[in-house]
Amino acid sequence: MIVAVDIGGTQMRVAILDSHLNVLTRESVPTGLDSSPDDSCRLMIQMIDVNSKQIGRESILGVGISAPSVDKRIGSLIKPPNLPNWDGYSISKFVKCQLGLPVVIGNDASLAALGEHRLGAGNGVENMLYYTLSTGIGGGIIIDGRLYEGKKGFAGELGHITVEPEGRICNCGNRGCLELYASGPSIVRGVTEARKNGRATSLSCDVPVSTAAVFKASSAGGGLCSEV
Ligand SMILES: [Zn+2]
Repeated sequence: MIVAVDIGGTQMRVAILDSHLNVLTRESVPTGLDSSPDDSCRLMIQMIDVNSKQIGRESILGVGISAPSVDKRIGSLIKPPNLPNWDGYSISKFVKCQLGLPVVIGNDASLAALGEHRLGAGNGVENMLYYTLSTGIGGGIIIDGRLYEGKKGFAGELGHITVEPEGRICNCGNRGCLELYASGPSIVRGVTEARKNGRATSLSCDVPVSTAAVFKASSAGGGLCSEV
C-alpha cells in the first residue's frame, strides 16, 4: 500500500491507496497557515498513523507527497506564495525521519497532470495541458505521453505571470499576477467587494460567498458572477 499526501494552501490531505491505486482511506484538515511546517507535518504523521492502523502499518511501502513550489532538483519548497512559512522546508526529510519509509515528493500541479493523464480526463491522449484553480493556480504539461517538468519542475505554472502590470501586490512579490484575479479566493473576493460596493447579484446575502456558488450563478448566465 502507498500513502499519498497533498499539502495545499488551505487543506492538507492524506490518503492510503492499494497497489491498484484504489483509495482505501482519506482525510483532510486545514494546513494551518500560522503553524510551523514541523507542526503541520506532525499532524500529517498522526493522520497517517491513525489511517494506517486500520489497514496495517507494516504493509505501507512508501509515501508520495505533492506540494506547491517544489524545486525538483533539491526536493524543498521554494518561496511558496500561499505557504510563506514553508520557504526552504524539506517535507520529505521530515517524513522519512519520522516514518522510516521511502518518500517521493513533487510539484502538486505536475503530479495532478500526471494523475489526470494516467487515470482521469487525459487518459489515452499523448499531449495535454492541466490547470487547477484552487487557493492558487497551478499547471502541468504532458508531451508525448510523458510529464514535462522543465529544469526546476515549474513548467506550465501560469499563476504568477503578470496580467495587470499596475495591479495589486502578490504574495510572490510581483504585481498583478493571474492568481490575484482567477484563483478561488480571488474570485470570492471580487464578488464580495463588488457586492459591498452596491452591485446586485443573484447570490444569497445570508451565506458567505463561495467559489462554487459563483460558478453556479455564472453558468446560469450574465450578471456580476459572470463578469468576475
Ligand atoms: Zn504572484
